[in-house]
Amino acid sequence: MEFIALTIFPDLFASFREHGIIKRAIDRKIISVTTLNIRDFATGKHRVTDDRPYGGGPGMVMKPEPLAAAIRAAKSSAPSAKTVLLSPQGRAFDQKTARELTACSGLIFVCGRYEGVDERIYQNYIDLEISIGDYVLTGGELAAMIIIDAVTRLIPGTLGGEDSAEKDSFSDGLLEHAHYTRPPVFEDDAPPEVLLSGNHKEIEKWRLESSLIRTLLKRRDLLEKGALDRQEIAILKKWCTDIEAIIRAQSSSGTGPPSGGQQKR
Ligand code: SAM
Repeated sequence: MEFIALTIFPDLFASFREHGIIKRAIDRKIISVTTLNIRDFATGKHRVTDDRPYGGGPGMVMKPEPLAAAIRAAKSSAPSAKTVLLSPQGRAFDQKTARELTACSGLIFVCGRYEGVDERIYQNYIDLEISIGDYVLTGGELAAMIIIDAVTRLIPGTLGGEDSAEKDSFSDGLLEHAHYTRPPVFEDDAPPEVLLSGNHKEIEKWRLESSLIRTLLKRRDLLEKGALDRQEIAILKKWCTDIEAIIRAQSSSGTGPPSGGQQKR
């Protein structure tokens, strides 16, 4: 898959390309990550890429001509690539979008700076506008790298056998289970015994429960909107029954603090 970032700061991508799974994917020719410097497509002595906004106001706007020329150049080397504008106003990037983007042969990222890009670029040159979250960055480069990273690890052959994207958080609508590694005791704390038992069926069961409880505690919204299977629903129902039993036992023993009194949390 071909990733091309259009940016006025191409050096920001240098280190990104040189490490870990991204480097390995480039070396294996699964992906390529290249940049085009928008400034190279600006004309005039100073190769200016920004100008004052029409209508006044603070900040600068990225001029359309160098951006359009850079997009055309990127398209000529990757004709079927989709052109993505990074913007806080775009579609929220998530694992589902990352998975969808793996179907593209290439992605051309338009990395904005200043107040953003001239609207005519958005209207006439962009296939997809993506935001990496509800906050405002100084530029689109980090957003492009985040998307490249998340998409790349979903491309078959990118992760070694030791890593797997299939069980990652969000891949099945749940957060991933807890992980432990050596040593067997760390600061008087041992991992759950089942993980050392070698019983794969029990380990899988523990991992599913871990996944469910983490999702319930940290991201209840995922459980509400996701489609749980029968086993997952059965586990949740069992927890409900157990919790109800605890509450009943506490209420009938009468040891709880008086209602309305100071409660310890
Ligand atoms: N004035 C713009 C607005 O309020 O919508 C924000 C411009 S921002 C300072 C400069 C550039 O950073 C944007 O053009 C975009 O490329 C990038 N950027 C900022 N926040 C982003 C986000 N949440 N997701 C993706 N790109 C973002």
